[in-house]
Amino acid sequence: AALREGYERFDPRAYLQNNYLPPRADFSSEEFVVPWKLRCLAETFASGEIRGRTLIDVGSGPTIYQLLSACDHFEEIVATDYLAVNREELGRWARGEPGTFDWSPFIQHVCKIEGRGEPWQEKERRLRARLRRILPIDVHQPDPLGTPLRPPADALLSAFCLEAVSPDRAAFARALAHVGSLLRPGGHALLLGALGESFYLAGAARLPVVPLAEADVRSALAGAGFALRDFRSYAMPPALRTGVDDVDGVFFAHAQK
Ligand code: SAH
Repeated sequence: AALREGYERFDPRAYLQNNYLPPRADFSSEEFVVPWKLRCLAETFASGEIRGRTLIDVGSGPTIYQLLSACDHFEEIVATDYLAVNREELGRWARGEPGTFDWSPFIQHVCKIEGRGEPWQEKERRLRARLRRILPIDVHQPDPLGTPLRPPADALLSAFCLEAVSPDRAAFARALAHVGSLLRPGGHALLLGALGESFYLAGAARLPVVPLAEADVRSALAGAGFALRDFRSYAMPPALRTGVDDVDGVFFAHAQK
């Protein structure tokens, strides 16, 4: 209930400002957290092994950075969020409406690290074209979309959602199992998330977060029927501890169902 009330005050603009503008979104060096996240995803998709018809992103929020490398490998990207304000923000971006957040520095950076010389506008166009469904979701429900996804997704992505909506580690592990049901057997799951975080701010909202250790992520993945393929972590440098949260670091996990 406390989490639900917190999310009623979630301000997408403030969240974007806190996490997706400098100093965290500074593309001048790979030491900063946003380039680190983008590199994890770019390197993982570069293998060409993770591909298919549909990729579902769980708890997309108002952000699309997490889909930039993914969108080259799937016919359709399904974005999801619990909050209508976030789904509306994503819809406005997908339709190219004016006044939405400027993701162009992220798109340019991803094109650069992917190294294929692709003009960034082409990637932007491709993601917009493939982002056809933006659905409501609640990861605390055994059927997070309300009905099973048919056919199930070929890949699952989730960034900074499960730990940010779960009151404790057991709820985090259950939420992971719930969203795992959206994925076909053999499908790949990519998770990005916060380590050792107890809260974050998004305008007037102060959201509680379950502080996770690396071992919690590994055991939740194993418990939800996933085999771990890659695990990376990033320590938040002092200059990026700006007071918008108390995060210690970030993890990236690639696992297979
Ligand atoms: N993926 C984005 C946003 C993460 S913020 C990023 O990488 O920055 C956490 C998101 O979880 C918010 O967008 C919030 O609306 C969403 N959320 C809140 N409660 C949820 C629930 N019960 N199920 C799924 N998502 C939820």
